Amino acid sequence: MKLGLIAVAIVAALSCTAGSALAATGACQTDPAGPAETPVVFVPTEGGPAYGGMQYPRAVGLGPKQVALTFDDGPDPETTRRVLDILDRHCVKAAFFMVGIYAERHPDIVREVAARGHTIGTHTWSHPNNLRHFSLTQAQREIRRGFTAVEAALARAPEEDLDRLAPFFRFPGLNDSKALIEWLGERNVATFSCEFGADDWKSISSAQVRIRALSNIASVGRGVLILHDTKPRTADMLSDFIVAMRQQGYSFAQLAPQAGAGELAAAVRDPLIGPVRRADAASALIGTIIEPSLEPASALR
Ligand SMILES: [Zn+2]
Repeated sequence: MKLGLIAVAIVAALSCTAGSALAATGACQTDPAGPAETPVVFVPTEGGPAYGGMQYPRAVGLGPKQVALTFDDGPDPETTRRVLDILDRHCVKAAFFMVGIYAERHPDIVREVAARGHTIGTHTWSHPNNLRHFSLTQAQREIRRGFTAVEAALARAPEEDLDRLAPFFRFPGLNDSKALIEWLGERNVATFSCEFGADDWKSISSAQVRIRALSNIASVGRGVLILHDTKPRTADMLSDFIVAMRQQGYSFAQLAPQAGAGELAAAVRDPLIGPVRRADAASALIGTIIEPSLEPASALR
């Protein structure tokens, strides 16, 4: 992965000096309004920074009118592939913050997200809406098991696809805790909030999701957008949203870890499950399945 991403980044950097990303990388064949490659923003994870202006002072290094798409709560057997197809059609790469329990149920979709070039972060094992209500040990296990489940799903994937798993974590409901952020930081896992949401977890129409996304983005100008690849209304509006963004002069960027993703992610692996051997991935996952709570992310607008 690293070489591929670096190559893209170099092309993107050269294209800036040349004046046009489209001139250097070519246009997307199925959406000439966008470039063929999504520029990569490499995000430092050492020390576990927390990113996202909605909650934290630090932001990832996006340029003006540049937006990074992130999708939470999947993989979903109905809508994740729809989202992947739309992103491919528009040549947009994104980051997916996956729930461990769903990664275990749908490992083929986890592998497909990686194979199609997207970054994968995690979002706990069972998506408890507020980890603050857990003991520190319980919460740490939720987080660790989420990483382990996604890693196991990727265990039979090609090596470069396994490397798509980044030391990126997002708290369910954005309900963080200082102690957990510090614990993640000791393991060099970055915490991701966002700059804007789109209310796609609410019972609103897909048109309303698109309008709220565009409006929230316009009010901030650049940043990380939270969407949910579990929501049909999100898949319904995604193509029109990307087209509208480009018409309004926005561009997209893909978040990726700056360095050492595999080793850093390994530091979060669930010690009770242990390292996932590539030949023994299925039997490595044992334990009781906890039904996830997919309550609305209360901190999102
Ligand atoms: Zn979530």
